[in-house]
Amino acid sequence: MKDTATGLVASTIAFSNVDGPGNRFVVFLQGCNFDCVACHNPQTIPGHAVEGDHAPLRMTVPELLTQIRRAAPFLSGITVSGGEATQQAGFVHALFTAVKDDLSLAHLTCFVDSNGACGPDTWAGLSPVMDGAMIDLKCLDAQIHQQMTGQPNDEVLASIRQLHALGLLYEVRLLILAGVNNGTELVQHTAEWLAAVDPAMRVKVIGFRQHGVRPRTPALVEPNAHELQAVATMLQAAAGFDICVI
Ligand code: SF4
Repeated sequence: MKDTATGLVASTIAFSNVDGPGNRFVVFLQGCNFDCVACHNPQTIPGHAVEGDHAPLRMTVPELLTQIRRAAPFLSGITVSGGEATQQAGFVHALFTAVKDDLSLAHLTCFVDSNGACGPDTWAGLSPVMDGAMIDLKCLDAQIHQQMTGQPNDEVLASIRQLHALGLLYEVRLLILAGVNNGTELVQHTAEWLAAVDPAMRVKVIGFRQHGVRPRTPALVEPNAHELQAVATMLQAAAGFDICVI
């Protein structure tokens, strides 16, 4: 049985305005089921304790609540990110349940930031205590997705559909790697696929940045502002998405 009494935590941030709506306390869990070539935090991929500067901590829910309470007056909510948050879904459930059971934290919403690679039972289990999810769609094309992450994308696509049906899909994030997943035909297909799920969806277009990424030959290429805007324009042409480009 998985340990849900403690979580393997890579780090926490008391205040973030880029991990969901408003100002949020963010818990970055250790361990990921993807191995993305563009990962900015590759030290969070191993699903076990590692030695060194970035050694993750085993933390209990009460220990995290103590940190959250200190920041709570200034927060809109908490977000569990990773690594991959759903790899420790039992712990996430326990944390969200504890937040919702605590009157002093009743104003906080509970969000998950996920790569979407988990089964439907995971979202069904979290949905009673979760207020929303941000899902990364690395690529609609299965082959390119496999090259980018080392894993297929069928669960990711199913997660986006399921979360929308549950009313819990806050945002889909598209990480753009120049020359890899920004081809015109691919972006148009992606726009059509997303529009079929929800033509008013929030979509965040994120330009890949080299910072923190493992060295690789050939090196991945950062998209320029023009290339990112081209993706946003193609998305806008397909539906009434609420688009943000960063
Ligand atoms: S899903 Fe996120 S944490 Fe996991 S390998 Fe990819 S970029 Fe890194």
